[in-house]
Amino acid sequence: MEEKVRIFDTTLRDGEQSPGATMNVEEKIQIALQLEKLGVDAIEAGFPIASEGDFEAVVRIAERIRDSQVVALARCEKEDIDRALEALRPARRKCLHLFLSTSDIHLRYQLQMERGEILRKATEMVIYAKKHIEEVEFSPMDASRTDPAFLMEVLQAAIQAGATVVNIPDTVGYATPDEFEDLIRRIRHEVPDISKVILSVHCHDDLGLAVANSLAAVRAGARQVECTVNGIGERAGNASLEEVVMALRTRRDHFKVDTRIRTELLYPTSRMVSRITGLPVQPNKAVVGANAFSHESGIHQDGVLKKKITYEIMTPDSVGRSQSSIVLGKHSGRHALRQRLRQLGYELTEEDLRRVFERFKALGDRKKEIFDEDLEAIVEDEILRVSEKYKLLYLNVNSGSVTVPTATVKLEINGKEHMDAGFGNGPVDATFATIRKITKARVKLKRFSINAITGGSDAQGEVTVRLEANGHEVIGQGTHPDIIMASAKAYVNALNRLEYRKRYPIQVKGEM
Ligand code: MN
Repeated sequence: MEEKVRIFDTTLRDGEQSPGATMNVEEKIQIALQLEKLGVDAIEAGFPIASEGDFEAVVRIAERIRDSQVVALARCEKEDIDRALEALRPARRKCLHLFLSTSDIHLRYQLQMERGEILRKATEMVIYAKKHIEEVEFSPMDASRTDPAFLMEVLQAAIQAGATVVNIPDTVGYATPDEFEDLIRRIRHEVPDISKVILSVHCHDDLGLAVANSLAAVRAGARQVECTVNGIGERAGNASLEEVVMALRTRRDHFKVDTRIRTELLYPTSRMVSRITGLPVQPNKAVVGANAFSHESGIHQDGVLKKKITYEIMTPDSVGRSQSSIVLGKHSGRHALRQRLRQLGYELTEEDLRRVFERFKALGDRKKEIFDEDLEAIVEDEILRVSEKYKLLYLNVNSGSVTVPTATVKLEINGKEHMDAGFGNGPVDATFATIRKITKARVKLKRFSINAITGGSDAQGEVTVRLEANGHEVIGQGTHPDIIMASAKAYVNALNRLEYRKRYPIQVKGEM
């Protein structure tokens, strides 16, 4: 049988380190459930010591996920390890992920530690962790810029101490494919006990090489790839899960390995992550971008019409982009709605379904055809934004060529109603100014964009705002047939995300 490469998803940990991509616990659970359906081998659910929110998310995911392994990140510190183990307690399959810098650059300028201390610390902490958990992954941070001889020494020490996975991170996205392939081969030859463990890689995309480096590593014998949906993550992001998976699947002839991923769920998963994080997918993105399967040139179109294989190396169906998505209307029933939501990856309780159904019917009165994008927006609005501080209750705006744009806003703040009115240089500005007046929020609007989420002039408007406060940046989204309403909802959503960050401040920052 063909060998399998493990897919280790870190969308919820490294992916969340994308600027602005804060997710609340409910959102993380939805993504985790979808990743499990997708068939990922491991889900890195968070970095429990980093914040209370991360801790809670790992606990809740550990309670829900049965098939995939749940992973929690920790520095080589006892308090980190204890916290991570506590969060992982409910998990059926679990793994603790330890990391420690090994490059001279990090040792000298960041840690002020000697190599000997690093070696000792790594060994001690793996041994400590192994007393409490079977599976331990060890990552020498900045491995690609580490002296290879020292890297081999650290890896062997970690394996002897009990690590079951060793992961080679190209933390700063510096490696090139041929170099990285050589490094992995060298590790396989020079680390005596390497065959006893899973050899993993974790690549960053600073030079656009994360996927290429990951695939080169697989060629050299790596059997786990760490990646994120849509390639989101710290800075330029991580290796993109869908690209790694489809490269291995489409070119099995070349790589001679495969993954356990149900590729027909790649597209719905990509959409869900994009919606929840507010990070759009570029149209020309491989596999999941809007244009990934559109043929524009006449010669290509001609070829594809005659025989698809002329210019199509994989089918849209194989990645879950069915040509004819079912369109629901106001007369569609609950059953059809539930079915479609399932296909989009959302598992709802009866009560949640009832709420979504009500909103769906209301939207059906304003809009003839209801598309997937509409449903996703409703679910996000009704279900994923739970127990929030601010709720928009009422908005009335006057604007036009002769009036001063004026907004009247009623908000619920922690259950109490507040109302006020204000002016601005336009209806959106007036709305935002009034919301700021009521909430006394000191925030800076960094970006504002508006899109029609589907075709048709009755389409819902989708507004994305980026707000900054005290060094935190968050993305808020709002969807509504009325674009001023959508703007207000996006603004309130962003304020709630800032609140979430305030409630769960990040105590420890760790990147790997
Ligand atoms: Mn990383």
